[in-house]
Amino acid sequence: MKAEVRFYGAAREVTGSMHLIERDGHTVALDCGLFQGRRAEANTRNREFPFDPGRLDAVVLSHAHIDHCGRLPRLLREGFAGPIFATPPTCDLVRVLLADSAHIQEEDAAYWNKKRVHGGDEPIEPLYDAADVEATVKLLEPRPLDSVFDVAPGIRATLREAGHMIGSAGVLVEIDNGRGGPIRVAFSGDLGRPDLPIVRDPAPLPPCDYLICESTYGGRITPGAEGMREQLATVLNETIGRGGKVIIPSFAVGRTQVIVYYFHQLVEEGLIRPHVPLVVDSPLAVQATEVFMRHPEVYDREASAFNSQTGHIFECGDCQYTRSVEESKALHLRKEPMIIVSASGMCEVGRILHHLKNNIGDPRNTILIVGYQAAHTLGRRLVEKAPQVRIFGELYSVRAQVKVLNGFSAHANAAELADWTAPLAAQVRRTFLVHGEIDQSEALATTMRQRGFRDVVIPEAGQTFEID
Ligand SMILES: [Zn+2]
Repeated sequence: MKAEVRFYGAAREVTGSMHLIERDGHTVALDCGLFQGRRAEANTRNREFPFDPGRLDAVVLSHAHIDHCGRLPRLLREGFAGPIFATPPTCDLVRVLLADSAHIQEEDAAYWNKKRVHGGDEPIEPLYDAADVEATVKLLEPRPLDSVFDVAPGIRATLREAGHMIGSAGVLVEIDNGRGGPIRVAFSGDLGRPDLPIVRDPAPLPPCDYLICESTYGGRITPGAEGMREQLATVLNETIGRGGKVIIPSFAVGRTQVIVYYFHQLVEEGLIRPHVPLVVDSPLAVQATEVFMRHPEVYDREASAFNSQTGHIFECGDCQYTRSVEESKALHLRKEPMIIVSASGMCEVGRILHHLKNNIGDPRNTILIVGYQAAHTLGRRLVEKAPQVRIFGELYSVRAQVKVLNGFSAHANAAELADWTAPLAAQVRRTFLVHGEIDQSEALATTMRQRGFRDVVIPEAGQTFEID
């Protein structure tokens, strides 16, 4: 009986998470994430799988971020028909996020087709559409944390708290090898960090023979969440004091809910003065928040207590959620101080562009950056204090203040990754580092070797390793 692990995404990069485990002709995928990055290149990579999806038995998802689940509808288009296992909150979030992603794919194809038809080329199909998503979500099979379930003949899995976002999990895969105990492969998923708001701390790494571990910040010490709430209060109060608005570009899932939670806590403690509204203006964020509300069973102790005490952590007198375009447009007419949280998180698309356009020229206002801003995005130009920026093709002077709060990362940093893996140093036979730029993975590999791990490799896309 032969078993193998094969790496097809998030290998020496951070998007497109997908790793295959094979045993005796049966194959299971861990994650099925979208490649992101340069538009044309990502589009090509997302279309094709270097294996036959029709022969895949099942998929196990670590969590609902689109770089971990966003290729599932394409997998179906190419023939996959098996179950997709994930925690109940992840299943609910996947429904919301894939529907949004299909919409983006359809718009993207329309954008390309305008150019192609102009150049005399054949139009392209979207990567997938709403009908593909509808078929995909029918295959979702919720499984609670910490229960063992069958995935394929001779392959079982257990989902374990990853502490990264609502529903996030690591996966322990057990593979029967026909002699003695099973081969145990632990996959970290995206590893969170201790003391993140709302979610519980990551569960300890379970005993395993092989480890597939993320390394996003394998060589970086990012600041923690302590003090973030107070720093947020300072920025909000200073801006409100000037009679200005606070515009917060934020990822719809995860970051937005943390901002709302902190704001609600500050309001309860009387630390935001005077009362101003916080408006979440992103349809995706509103839907994701509803999923967060449906799953209080996965909150940490502090969030559970606050939830019982207040009725709901994401609802307060000063919190508002907008859905329609009309409601969003009405915000532009309101002149009083307020806080607007909107997507996209890097200011590339979406309603945030309208809020920036309308507020960037007023020195009373603050643009508050709470997430990572990739190179060449509008968000990055704001962080770099560009005096002027282009929005919808027009130049605007940046007169609003730009503030950056760096402690919101939901990924374990270098020290936290090393501490999480260390107890298993003597036991793990081989570690595969994934989900990191090569310098970050190499830095973590060095640390792990120093801490006693015998064999640490950084696989390339397409590489296969026998496990026994
Ligand atoms: Zn993630």
